[in-house]
Amino acid sequence: MSSGSPCASKKCYCGIPSKMLTSWTTDNPGRKFLTCKFSDVHTGRKGCGWFYWVDPDVVEWQRVVTNELVVEKRLLKTELRIMMTELQKLEDDKALLVAANERLERICNGGVAGMKGT
Ligand SMILES: [Zn+2]
Repeated sequence: MSSGSPCASKKCYCGIPSKMLTSWTTDNPGRKFLTCKFSDVHTGRKGCGWFYWVDPDVVEWQRVVTNELVVEKRLLKTELRIMMTELQKLEDDKALLVAANERLERICNGGVAGMKGT
C-alpha cells in the first residue's frame, strides 16, 4: 500500500502537496492519512475530496486497545480539569487564610509589643 515516497510528494486533485492527519474515528483510531490541504476537520470542509491511507489497516486488537485508551484519556482529561478547578479553589482559600493569619499575627504582635512597652 505505502510506496515509501515522502508524504509531501503526494498531491491531491488540486495539484498541491497533501497534508497528513490522524484519524480518530472508532473504526480507524490513530491511523494516519493524507488529504487535501484545504480540508478541515473542524469545519467539515473536504477540499477536493482526495484521500489516501498512510498507515495500513488497523488490526482488531489495535482498534480495541486504542479505542479504550482514547476513552480513558478523555476521562482522565475531564478528571484533571475537575481537579485543577478544585486545586484553584484550594489555592484561593489558602490565600484568604494566609491573609487572615497575617492580620491576626499583626494584631497579636502589636499586642505583645504594646505589653513589652509598658
Ligand atoms: Zn485538494
